[in-house]
Amino acid sequence: MSEAFVTLVTNDGYALGALVLAKSLRDVNTTRKIAVLITNEVSEPTRNRLREAFDVVSLVNELNTHDAANLALLGRPELGVTLTKIYAWKLTQFTKCVFLDADTLVVQNVDELFDRPEIAAAPDVGWPDCFNSGVFVFVPSAATFEKLAEHAVSTGSFDGGDQGLLNTFFDYWPTAGPEHRLSFLYNMNANQSYSYKPAFQKYGHLVKIIHFIGQFKPWHWARTSSGRVYAQTQEAPTHSEFHVQQWWNVFDRHYSTSAPPVSLAALPIGFSG
Ligand code: UDP
Ligand code: MN
Repeated sequence: MSEAFVTLVTNDGYALGALVLAKSLRDVNTTRKIAVLITNEVSEPTRNRLREAFDVVSLVNELNTHDAANLALLGRPELGVTLTKIYAWKLTQFTKCVFLDADTLVVQNVDELFDRPEIAAAPDVGWPDCFNSGVFVFVPSAATFEKLAEHAVSTGSFDGGDQGLLNTFFDYWPTAGPEHRLSFLYNMNANQSYSYKPAFQKYGHLVKIIHFIGQFKPWHWARTSSGRVYAQTQEAPTHSEFHVQQWWNVFDRHYSTSAPPVSLAALPIGFSG
């Protein structure tokens, strides 16, 4: 029986997130494998860094024309990144997986998540009857992959991202049993601690996974020569400095800023799905 954490990287910017995520999982001594799905856009030097940090680096092929669902999907380029996430279901060498967005950081061991069934996830803070698709437990299966692809063609995604697609596919989630519902501690929106600071003060030490939702990711923050983070953007920073600093602390423990694992200057501002 083999189980794995899985993330996704379609460009070099998110690769930095994935590298830090992988290191954070090692830091908390996970006993499970760590896998990353990549696409063609990821550069060769970056692939090498990913190969060092992950047990499995799986190149996800462009949509193939082997079946009707995929053929129809070829006409739906807007579903691109969304669809790439569903390729995680093709990792059938594993019996169970936990998907983690590349913008998450694991701060305590979460191996107990493998005791949960498909689909297990935490409520989205914006619409708690939907689950947030940044952290979820799933069971790889070629049949489920095909059904997800068909669902993408027939129903599409109501938010244009993977979360809209997965929530209508696993539409039983809001009323499913408690084993399907993950605590907020497994997907703590780093923005949220601002808006409910007293709760963060009471429960913050219990957080296991931090999720940096939104356009500006920890790797977009600037740092002083002493390593302290500061928001470089014109807009108000979306994440708490405390959590962004935690992300950079993991980075510093494993990577030297003088030789960053991917070119920091070239990092694109990510999309917000
Ligand atoms: N992702 C990617 N390339 C992109 C956009 C997204 O590889 O250009 C992957 C990455 O794993 C990311 C996830 O898809 O964490 C979901 O996107 P994001 O985390 O930006 O969405 P948010 O959590 O902000 O809604
Ligand atoms: Mn995310």
